[in-house]
Amino acid sequence: MKRDIKSLTNEELIAQFTLWAEPAYRVTQLLEWLYRQRAATWDQMSNLPKSLRQKLAGEYTLNVLNLAHRQGSPDTTQKFLWKLADGAFVESVLIPANPALYGEASDRHTLCISTQVGCAYGCKFCASGLDGWKRNLQPEEIIEQVLAVERWHGHQPQELKRIDTTPASDRLANNLVIMGMGEPLANYDNLMAALRILNASWGGGIGARKITISTSGLAPQIRKLAEDPMQFRLAISLHGATDEVRGRIMPVNRKYPLAELTAALDYYQSRKGRMITFEYILIAGVNDALDQARPLAALASRLNAKVNLIPYNAVDGLSWTRPEENIQEAFLAALESEGVTGTLRREKGHDIDAACGQLRLKTERELRDLKPLG
Ligand code: SAH
Ligand code: SF4
Repeated sequence: MKRDIKSLTNEELIAQFTLWAEPAYRVTQLLEWLYRQRAATWDQMSNLPKSLRQKLAGEYTLNVLNLAHRQGSPDTTQKFLWKLADGAFVESVLIPANPALYGEASDRHTLCISTQVGCAYGCKFCASGLDGWKRNLQPEEIIEQVLAVERWHGHQPQELKRIDTTPASDRLANNLVIMGMGEPLANYDNLMAALRILNASWGGGIGARKITISTSGLAPQIRKLAEDPMQFRLAISLHGATDEVRGRIMPVNRKYPLAELTAALDYYQSRKGRMITFEYILIAGVNDALDQARPLAALASRLNAKVNLIPYNAVDGLSWTRPEENIQEAFLAALESEGVTGTLRREKGHDIDAACGQLRLKTERELRDLKPLG
């Protein structure tokens, strides 16, 4: 099987071009086409000789993601559903700047990307896991989500754009969160290969500190990540501060209970010295009782973690709901009174199925319903 051109590093391209007796500056030109111009075809690469384009096309694929569906308007949260080469669907979400989330005040847009088709971890509240796991995304399919959103944006009429891309960087989203469909650390090698390319100065040029990886708590992979020299940010989907509560909604907690997870996080911090973030979805009657704020605060203090409270987004076919706003605020206040830094996401994109996996699930179910019987 051919490799996709976007799964190759600068070094690998140089080796290939040397073998072909092509000058080194051709690699620079190719990388320009891939990561700056976001070329979708070999033919677009007009300053590369035709013979070289043919050699490239003979050896590598240049797959792009095709937009199957989009929801949202250009100045609010937008959700993209991509159709992959094998017909599978994945989602990306573009979120306008919101300094209270993962990034900093200077962030213009956050792009949330997927790492797998479906998810094997089956958290009870999550749409991504409802139909199980289909496959891992390849490095280029992870990278392409960034480029495809930018390609789409580049084709919008000027007056619709309203999205500020300052000359300092020509990346539309300067903040990346790996929080779409799938468990990123269960696709560790492909994820790391993709993030290295998205981070490299010859590739995406997105700073490692602008990239947040979210995990449901795969302890061994967190330890592995601790050994990696890259300075990515880490977010943990906690959602329960005791094994009793967490175990009820996250089956992964049986494999890696809190003691094991927190030990891995201790190790991560001893190696990285970096602050982690706890994600805590507030689900009515499940984990929103005020007496849960204390064990949550204890974990956060011990690990020097900040807590993002996220009101639950209803999922079709699931009966969970978010608590009333006064309960959300009271939970935040209880956390803060324990000396923990917390934020409450006053949700964007609530109306467009922005929580992970929802748009894909809906589309797949609609397609299935459309199929003729028999
Ligand atoms: N698998 C990884 C990353 C993808 S999920 C993980 O679990 O961390 C990204 C975040 O969305 C997780 O914190 C997840 O718990 C949360 N999430 C899933 N379904 C949600 C819903 N219906 N409403 C709000 N957040 C949800
Ligand atoms: Fe998978 Fe994360 Fe959804 Fe859990 S929350 S099912 S780990 S995508």
